[in-house]
Amino acid sequence: MSDSFDVIVVGSGPGGYVCAIRAAQLGLKVACVEKRGTLGGTCLNIGCIPSKALLQSSEEFEKAKHALKDHGVLIDGLELDLARMQARKSEVVAANTKGVEFLFRKNKVAWLKGTGRITAPGTVDVDGKAYAAKSIVIATGSESVPLPGVVVDEKQIVTSTGALELDKVPGHLVVIGGGVIGLELGSVWRRLGADVTVVEFLDRIVPGMDNEIAGAFQRILQKQGLRFRLGMKVTSASVAENGVRLVVEPAAGGAEETISADIVLVSIGRRPYTSGLGLEDVGVALDDRGRVKVDAHYETNVPGIYAIGDVIAGPMLAHKGEDEGVAVAEILAGQTGHVNYNAIPGVVYTWPEVASVGQTEEELKAGGIAYTVGKFPFSANGRARAMGDIDGFVKILADKTTDRLLGAHVIGPDAGTLIAELTTAIEFGASAEDVARICHAHPTLSEAVKEAALAVEGRALHI
Ligand SMILES: Cc1cc2nc3c(=O)[nH]c(=O)nc-3n(C[C@H](O)[C@H](O)[C@H](O)COP(=O)(O)OP(=O)(O)OC[C@H]3O[C@@H](n4cnc5c(N)ncnc54)[C@H](O)[C@@H]3O)c2cc1C
Repeated sequence: MSDSFDVIVVGSGPGGYVCAIRAAQLGLKVACVEKRGTLGGTCLNIGCIPSKALLQSSEEFEKAKHALKDHGVLIDGLELDLARMQARKSEVVAANTKGVEFLFRKNKVAWLKGTGRITAPGTVDVDGKAYAAKSIVIATGSESVPLPGVVVDEKQIVTSTGALELDKVPGHLVVIGGGVIGLELGSVWRRLGADVTVVEFLDRIVPGMDNEIAGAFQRILQKQGLRFRLGMKVTSASVAENGVRLVVEPAAGGAEETISADIVLVSIGRRPYTSGLGLEDVGVALDDRGRVKVDAHYETNVPGIYAIGDVIAGPMLAHKGEDEGVAVAEILAGQTGHVNYNAIPGVVYTWPEVASVGQTEEELKAGGIAYTVGKFPFSANGRARAMGDIDGFVKILADKTTDRLLGAHVIGPDAGTLIAELTTAIEFGASAEDVARICHAHPTLSEAVKEAALAVEGRALHI
């Protein structure tokens, strides 16, 4: 293999592998360094894909157990085969990671297997062998944030990685952190039979999500059986053979108490991962949160070294990293790559799903922007009724003067798919009226989007 490339990407997550493929499409000679045994990064191996596989399987189980009766479908002798469910998840992961290998071969991207270290601008060492590149792209991703006093063993005290691998349904699962990953994995194990308690430091779940949506989300999850201990902090955890003893106390101060758990999931966030990459030696600057600092073209303070994905600022989302990967590849090929950070959707894959794009009501208020709200509940949508999925609503925020869409938030069935239309609308600078005038097929869940857009002007038809 040649030792010299136009671009070397370090890390093969959704940021890195997409960047490598796009750069190769544009005629550049590309290599991607990956130390894991398989390609695809956190997302394909221990993140988005395995979690969605288990969310899907556990949702099927829950439907078979509870919801199908209502449809007149009766199942006798329903059982959970957790080993099969986990094996299926691994098959899904393998199909996806092998898919990236295939795409690398198809696009002639060289996979440099091993740990990459940037030894100088234009030089990457991979397990002792030096490679030259005109440009280097750092795409080394993120890792779970540890919690002081709580030592992860990935058996009884786990991160999301261990929570995806449990071979037994825990009697009591305590999730530390009421963010997206904790709520998704908490939902998986609750559906499979665990009692789940979520301990959250703040007095609300999913910080950053529109308040009204977050409140509705919490109520729905509670109805499903999740317990919430908000405004509480975990100060220590001790492991014994029969479980974990957590010490918690009110975040605002007060008497401590103990909670017993079979398994504890620590999911208080993720932090950028740059360990062993040699950034201090080449002088690449980090910000106060350990993220690689980049300019508007994703270039670091060291010319020729770029960074994308979870390792830089912005939402830690696979599709955000992918879009940055495309943008930087196009910039390196002399084009004008660009990412519109106002139009990056975020989805929580519980059921119902929660999806958002653009600004929240709180952000608009803080920015002093006058806005109008249009809302429409799924309980008034024919398709949602036919499905038996009437929890939730669509909420659209539009500029009070221009009617331009500023934000959209959906809690309800298939919200993650419904948000695509509203993301497109925001990307194209559409108004709420534009969305309201589009013909939406009947009966579909997307009619709730149209109705919410109509509601911005106070003229929803079906409520
Ligand atoms: C449980 C879970 C569920 C998630 N679900 C979703 C979801 O549904 N949707 C979503 O958008 N996001 C989700 N995420 C977040 C998503 O996984 C990340 O945003 C995404 O993977 C970031 O991509 P990345 O390319 O920046 O880095 P990563 O995917 O983290 O990949 C970085 C890669 O770099 C490699 N690497 C690091 N250092 C070196 C080195 N020195 N040499 C060689 N290789 C190196 C690592 O081994 C890794 O494979 C989830 C995350 C978790 C943990």
